[in-house]
Amino acid sequence: MDNSIREKFKVLFGKECDVYASSGRINLIGEHTDYNGGYVLPGAIDKCIMAGIAPNGTDKVKVFSIDYNEYAEFGLEEKDAPAQQWAKYIFGVCRETLKRGGKVEGFSAVFCGNIPLGAGLSSSAALESTFAYALNQIYGNGFDLFQLAKIGQATEHNYCGVKCGIMDQFASCFGKAGYLIRLNCKTLEYQYFPFSCEGYKLVLLDTCVKHELASSAYNKRRESCEKALEAIQQRHPDTETLSDAKRIWLEEVKAEIAEEDYLRAIHVIGEVQRVLDLCDALERKDFETVGELMYQTHFSLSRFYEVSCEELDFLNRVARKCDVTGSRVMGGGFGGCTINLVKEELYDQFLKTAIDLFTKRFGHAPKIYEVVSSDGARKL
Ligand code: ADP
Ligand code: MG
Repeated sequence: MDNSIREKFKVLFGKECDVYASSGRINLIGEHTDYNGGYVLPGAIDKCIMAGIAPNGTDKVKVFSIDYNEYAEFGLEEKDAPAQQWAKYIFGVCRETLKRGGKVEGFSAVFCGNIPLGAGLSSSAALESTFAYALNQIYGNGFDLFQLAKIGQATEHNYCGVKCGIMDQFASCFGKAGYLIRLNCKTLEYQYFPFSCEGYKLVLLDTCVKHELASSAYNKRRESCEKALEAIQQRHPDTETLSDAKRIWLEEVKAEIAEEDYLRAIHVIGEVQRVLDLCDALERKDFETVGELMYQTHFSLSRFYEVSCEELDFLNRVARKCDVTGSRVMGGGFGGCTINLVKEELYDQFLKTAIDLFTKRFGHAPKIYEVVSSDGARKL
């Protein structure tokens, strides 16, 4: 990928460039915990955005997207926002860098990627992180990785209309090959955990469906969590977030809150503990326990948080039948992917069975993305 970028850059701009990259991400466990002040456990993967970049001595940014075969040119002031969606991410990163007192001047760039778009692997965060990291290096701005992640997050908020949390940009910037990163979404403390799963493969099965309810249901879930937390705070005033609550505290208020809110809180409180247990299991290289916790998370998301759907539950059941070590819905739910931890010797048979059965049942095949733990933002 980087050679074709260098060549294309030379053809378009007549000179050499430096090449930077940043990765998409998975989240092994810790779902719907971020906005409840809990843990997530993401890691960078071997699918990335790659960009050749060099200053061009003008006050314009000149960018070519190989994948869209489109060119965009824009200035660096707030009024200069480009029309193309993909260019807004790059413009946003420039603007957020400038807002924080960093230097950015005109540059030329050529970029492409191999992260499937909108599949829950955060291609947008990879795009932001690539440019945030590159501009930081090129102009010697001295921002740390956290600041670069926040530049990406603010880009989504202020230039792309997506009010996302910090996990995607965090994983894309901080990712390291062979590690997952446990991030405490309340304190932003983080810790690396070894994830060298020899003998296993990680694979995502994309249902290719997105059910309509997703965004209204998401807001309702957040409200339920707030109501459960408020009830708990009546008795335990020091509880800052739902993730800080103990399960017995939830039982104390069960009669005072709606059944629905109670079920949502069961998921969140259980999920926080599962992340901790899974990290312990990773340190012991106990992948059977890792996998079992993934299945528990799926059950919890399906029955208590109620964000699964027929297609996802179907793939989860197929995984169980095929003796897949761990499987669960990844991301917000109501469609998207399952993430599966599979023994190498069962891998081919699992994929074949899943594709056959899913196609028979739903009339189209799931998409398959095999992923390997990799580095995050970097210069090549
Ligand atoms: P995701 O879940 O993958 O982050 P988003 O909808 O948030 O999905 O971001 C996808 C958008 O990011 C695309 O519509 C495009 O604007 C931009 N993008 C991602 N990858 C590329 C790429 N390889 N080339 C150009 N733009 C890209
Ligand atoms: Mg995105």
